Amino acid sequence: MSNEPSAAATASPAKSRLANEIERRRTFAIISHPDAGKTTLTEKLLLFGGAIQLAGQVKAKKDGRSTRSDWMAIEKSRGISVATSVMTFEYDGAVFNLLDTPGHEDFSDDTYRTLTAVDSAIMVIDAARGIETRTQKLFEICRLRDIPIVTFINKMDREARDPLDLLDEIEKTLALDTAPMVWPIGQGRSFRGTYDLYQPRVRRLDEDYDGQPVSGPDDPLFAELLEGDAHTRWREEIDLAAEACGRFDLDAFRHGTLTPVFFGSALKNFGVRDVLDALKTHAPPPLSQRAATREVVATEPAMTGIVFKIQANMDPNHRDRIAFMRVCSGKLTRGMKVKHVRSGKTMALSAPQFFFAQDRSLAEEAFAGDVVGIPNRGVLRIGDALTEGEDITFLGIPSFAPEILRRIRLEDAIKAKKLKDAVREMAEEGVVQVFNPVDGTQPIVGVIGALQLDVLADRLKHEYGLATDFDPAPCEAVRWIRSDDPAALKAFIAANRSSVATDLDGDHVYIPSSIFTLNYNAGRNPEIQFLEIKT
Ligand code: GDP
Repeated sequence: MSNEPSAAATASPAKSRLANEIERRRTFAIISHPDAGKTTLTEKLLLFGGAIQLAGQVKAKKDGRSTRSDWMAIEKSRGISVATSVMTFEYDGAVFNLLDTPGHEDFSDDTYRTLTAVDSAIMVIDAARGIETRTQKLFEICRLRDIPIVTFINKMDREARDPLDLLDEIEKTLALDTAPMVWPIGQGRSFRGTYDLYQPRVRRLDEDYDGQPVSGPDDPLFAELLEGDAHTRWREEIDLAAEACGRFDLDAFRHGTLTPVFFGSALKNFGVRDVLDALKTHAPPPLSQRAATREVVATEPAMTGIVFKIQANMDPNHRDRIAFMRVCSGKLTRGMKVKHVRSGKTMALSAPQFFFAQDRSLAEEAFAGDVVGIPNRGVLRIGDALTEGEDITFLGIPSFAPEILRRIRLEDAIKAKKLKDAVREMAEEGVVQVFNPVDGTQPIVGVIGALQLDVLADRLKHEYGLATDFDPAPCEAVRWIRSDDPAALKAFIAANRSSVATDLDGDHVYIPSSIFTLNYNAGRNPEIQFLEIKT
């Protein structure tokens, strides 16, 4: 794919700038299991983009958050920790917006929601471990929108699994076709580099990026790089790979059914540029967004945007919230007046912000695909649309069934009403999900990551003056229930009153006491859908 402006796009200078700016944007996330090397890769990507001068900044932040108590302390002392939520950098004429999907303990609903705001993703896999649980979960969220995925098999400089075996696992576990773009030459201590399967050349671990052209897999260079048996095995592997593996196909990649696979070592900064080049060359520019009434195309001149994440200020002195908005179409200019579609009110975007590694700056202008932070005092909520006047409701910020469920215990029972309001506000902000059992028993809160509970308790205490603790919930899962047959749904709810609740929007959920009960009831009620994701 070319990023050159098309002839049509250059017809009108004003239009051409908008089209060109949008065309060169790549908005993506990195999905991986903790420890696969996401932070290391992020640092290296940013170094290519010149966004940070010092490798180690991303790491420093992560280490600073390594325990929960540290996390809380740091959040508070800093007031707000949005600095690395979006990292923007330029490389080779393209503008990359890397949206951070927190790993480790700060894994949360936000992680999932962020994936609904990207157009492509890099999947980082540890070469010794293959597909791990978190990767699979995050991949499934990407699959909801068939997002194109570039795969980076990392840590080839360590003991690694057989490449064919890894590709096979990706294909089987994720039901995703693979197309290796390079083939590793050795692994672990004898990792020498990669062989480019498309433009026969070798990139050696210790050499510059462009590598050295070779005649093909029988080139004598390989016998120099790998000794005896290792060379023979490698040669066989290449033949097997040629037989067993698919070829890269842009259409299949863009439809999310095939992933190009690169091998490398983030630590040694090897193979990272391959991934960046693949994103630039093959990943899509900002995609159209689905709205209730129509499809919103990125290059439409009128600005539209959707809020996908809210970051609350942990500093009690400042109650501002930052709403992260993805610009869906057109161009945002600082100071512009926009319509907040949910309330119908007009608001001025006087201080939209960009985040650049550790800093933020005022965004004078932003284009479709960019993410800006909009400071506000609780006006903006997740899913809200801002437009130049059109009433648009964007679809596609789904809710995900929380995996951790609790009841809140209040030390001072008199404050029950205050707690209810506070929890509702936290739920509207996306900190937790709240479910109200239809039998009138106490609400249940649900989160994707355990740290969210700490954040909830901390904020209830500091912002609302409520001392709370958590008790186990009487249920083990949450599933939204739907049916094409309203009578069947009604009957199910009536028959399971003690295990049905409503969410913030008033939609019904089933809250079974165990997974066993869930499966049992799902089997007995085929006319009811039990959904893990509400769209
Ligand atoms: P994250 O949890 O996915 O962000 O992973 P990190 O980037 O923090 O990496 C986890 C550990 O693996 C750290 O000790 C890294 O130094 C190490 N690591 C990351 N990439 C590589 C690599 O390519 N090779 C080797 N040997 N170690 C790596």
